[in-house]
Amino acid sequence: MSPPRGRCAGTAARRRIAARCRSTVIVLLRPCSTLCLPDIRTSRQICAQLEEGDVPVRIIVGAQWGDEGKGKVVDLLADQADVVVRYQGGNNAGHTIENEHGKFALHLVPSGIFNPRTQAVIGNGVVVNPVALRDEIRTLEERGISTRNLKVSGGAHLIMPYHLVEDGAYEASLGKSKIGTTRRGIGPAYADKAARIGIRMQEVLDRASFRERVKGILEAKARHLRLVYGADISTLAEECSRFVQAAESLVHYVTDTSALVWNAVKQGKQVLFEGAQGILLDLDHGTYPFVTSSNPSAGFACVGAGIGPTYVDEVLGICKAYTTRVGEGPFPTELHDAAGDKLREVGREFGTTTGRERRCGWLDLVALRYAVRVSGLTGLCITKLDVLNEFDEIKVCCAYRVEGRVYPDMPPYQAAVRQVQPVLESLAGWRTDVSGARVLGDLPEEAQAYLAFVTNFAEVPLRLVSVGPAREQTIVVSEPSR
Ligand code: GDP
Repeated sequence: MSPPRGRCAGTAARRRIAARCRSTVIVLLRPCSTLCLPDIRTSRQICAQLEEGDVPVRIIVGAQWGDEGKGKVVDLLADQADVVVRYQGGNNAGHTIENEHGKFALHLVPSGIFNPRTQAVIGNGVVVNPVALRDEIRTLEERGISTRNLKVSGGAHLIMPYHLVEDGAYEASLGKSKIGTTRRGIGPAYADKAARIGIRMQEVLDRASFRERVKGILEAKARHLRLVYGADISTLAEECSRFVQAAESLVHYVTDTSALVWNAVKQGKQVLFEGAQGILLDLDHGTYPFVTSSNPSAGFACVGAGIGPTYVDEVLGICKAYTTRVGEGPFPTELHDAAGDKLREVGREFGTTTGRERRCGWLDLVALRYAVRVSGLTGLCITKLDVLNEFDEIKVCCAYRVEGRVYPDMPPYQAAVRQVQPVLESLAGWRTDVSGARVLGDLPEEAQAYLAFVTNFAEVPLRLVSVGPAREQTIVVSEPSR
């Protein structure tokens, strides 16, 4: 086995190799011991600092309702990664990345695309709108970013035009109970996958049978949409042939990405799994039914990439210093006052993909602790600390109250979650610009106290603090989280 580029095979890789030689499966349960803020080292070598813990296989997940600033953290770590994998969702997600190449909004292509020696992988757990992917690739190429290293799993399902029509028709039929989807056909594409009538990327390898299958499914879908929803399907066939052509143009990107990832893991290379949306939007563990139609939780990274859970070394949760959510659904700490407006304005809380205004509120620690539990977070990255610069006092939610009963943790049933009142604790603001801070010691005492409060409450070690959108506006907490 060859060591990874530029360094020896890491301890985690060795542990995995040794584990493969044993016949029993050992699950390591590590208590979370680093609850206070550990020492940090000063360095602008952010990536190098983050790699000191030697964690070749890492999952990055949003620890809230999405839009936590995952793009920036993934972009930072992708700089060192050999393989970056998107494992769920579709072009309803959106990362905004600012790097030396400019500002980019990525929807399907993994952030690793900016590094010419990184393989950027769209895993089997993603649903692919072929027109959106083709256009995203074109835009990147036009701006000088090569997509030579992009690979798309043959197991990824295609979003077809009838999925978009279905999405709109379902939402319209729900009236006041609508989910608030982005109407990009993501949910219906996943529904077809489960119903086993989906079309996978690998089908483009045989053009004739691909076109034949699309034709058959289109006929059935068109009939259903017309009869049940009275939907306008006059342009559906034309749209389908546009999608078919786009899918066919992607054929040279299609490969067995599970094998690709496995080979990278076997060689001790650095593999980064990039989650879209957030844990509270998880189909199984989020605030159902106001959730996304896939599983952003860390466990699904393995399913959506085709790799076993025993190969994962670290799970990093990304969490804003406050909370936002788009669309419908419960949001216990939502603010409908000047403080909420200020968070939206200063934090520029408008959707990357839809431009929708995001709902804003204080940091919900009950939800964060829940995210730590269901995704087994081993480290926390707190972003957008600078957005809180101008508050005299900052509130955090430490429990939920429902009909006189106090829940320190997430209530087990959604009916309760919909009615909760947040139990808020007040912390001192710092009223100082923290965007120039590069080490924890640069932060005002109040900001350090805020971070300590959050990580102690969530019972997860702090790994990184982001104080602005630029790469260098990052504080790395060098104590390894494992
Ligand atoms: P994602 O989907 O989780 O990547 O979230 P978004 O695409 O909505 O990214 C959040 C936005 O915040 C992007 O425009 C980032 O450039 C920006 N951003 C990320 N980190 C910070 C930060 O620490 N401070 C500020 N002010 N902006 C940030």
